[in-house]
Amino acid sequence: MHRITVIGGGFAGLAAAITAAESGAHVTVYEAHHTLGGRARTAEGPYRTNEGPHALYNGGPHWSWLKQRGLIGPLAQLPPLEAARLRLRHHGVLRRTPPFGMLKLLRRGLPQAPVDVDFLTWATDIAGEEGARAAAHYSAVALFHHDPGSLSAAFVQERLRRATKLPPEAHYPRGGWGSVIGRMADHAWNLGVRMETLSRVDTLPTDAPVVVATSLDAARRLLKDDSLTWTSGRTALIDLAVRTRRGDAFAVSDLDRTGWIERFTAQDRTLAPAGESLIQGQIPLGPDESKAAGTARAEELLDLAFEGWRDRVTWRREALANGRTGAVDLPGTSWRDRPAIDRGNGVYLAGDQVAAPGVLSEVSFNSALTAVSLALGQKTLDLKHA
Ligand SMILES: Cc1cc2nc3c(=O)[nH]c(=O)nc-3n(C[C@H](O)[C@H](O)[C@H](O)COP(=O)(O)OP(=O)(O)OC[C@H]3O[C@@H](n4cnc5c(N)ncnc54)[C@H](O)[C@@H]3O)c2cc1C
Repeated sequence: MHRITVIGGGFAGLAAAITAAESGAHVTVYEAHHTLGGRARTAEGPYRTNEGPHALYNGGPHWSWLKQRGLIGPLAQLPPLEAARLRLRHHGVLRRTPPFGMLKLLRRGLPQAPVDVDFLTWATDIAGEEGARAAAHYSAVALFHHDPGSLSAAFVQERLRRATKLPPEAHYPRGGWGSVIGRMADHAWNLGVRMETLSRVDTLPTDAPVVVATSLDAARRLLKDDSLTWTSGRTALIDLAVRTRRGDAFAVSDLDRTGWIERFTAQDRTLAPAGESLIQGQIPLGPDESKAAGTARAEELLDLAFEGWRDRVTWRREALANGRTGAVDLPGTSWRDRPAIDRGNGVYLAGDQVAAPGVLSEVSFNSALTAVSLALGQKTLDLKHA
């Protein structure tokens, strides 16, 4: 029986552990935190905020994999009346429909955008500058960068297409992503995976193969390899509970800059106590912008879309996510240029900033499966040589 060590018990680590165990490997997962899930954790308590992911995109490879194993669980349905309450801020006011120029970029049959040109330049040729900027800012919901127009056109086009698809790709596991993680952990346990929490690994184990399923920053320290870097976003996060008021927006996207605020109790009332709404927002920040500036921008959106919210607040929290929102690709680069999964000597990387395709957590998932197949292949090869 092959033995595999997985470092990190987030979405990537659990996907790797399950895949390896299903192939008959003897798997041990070491997780530094006292619970599994990493960024995909959902807070315990009256306000069930997700630290990272909210949306599970059904167009992604993880969807069918989770579904086949019965791990998605119940989904929270967004009532059509609530869906109709999506608002877009454009030229300082809220509107229901995208500006005309932006619609040109959502047309089916558009050619694939190039990798080596920035999105704003490419999109301006098709839709004019105003439409291009609005589309770039909308796409930030799935890429968390303050200036999506400056990124590779191919990279932004894929995220824009997926984030605007109808019917929507975004689905919401009831009770938050933590419920999916809980089911994955149970499944791994039933497959015989050994999972040790509160077990930070400071030195790479010598008994390969090892899948390092941490953030890229943590992998860089663990592997002592300064080349393990890639661009990511810096985002102010605001979590808010307010007394419920009929007529609040479901979500508001800032097309003038970047920013997204969503009332998650619209689709899942279990996330906050009865009579309260849970709102979470993310405001991508430029390199010199402070968290306070991001919070102020979030409050501007709240003022527009959630009447009287300041008098209704029952709970509030703010945070900064720096380099935690997955990879972004600059012009001239694609996922293929990110740090390779195979690091040699039986060490493999999995995570959302390594060389694997997909949107957000899909990169973690794809890299986890690739890492395991390489690890098992490597082991077989070693055994043949032995
Ligand atoms: C604000 C925000 C919103 C997001 N929204 C979405 C969304 O809507 N949809 C989506 O698909 N994705 C979303 N993402 C991205 C998603 O959260 C991540 O891609 C995914 O959770 C990453 O999983 P991972 O397992 O690769 O990494 P992590 O979740 O970071 O897991 C790594 C694990 O490794 C552990 N670890 C680190 N170092 C060590 C060590 N030395 N020893 C042992 N353990 C260690 C950590 O404690 C952690 O548990 C969002 C992210 C953020 C921050």
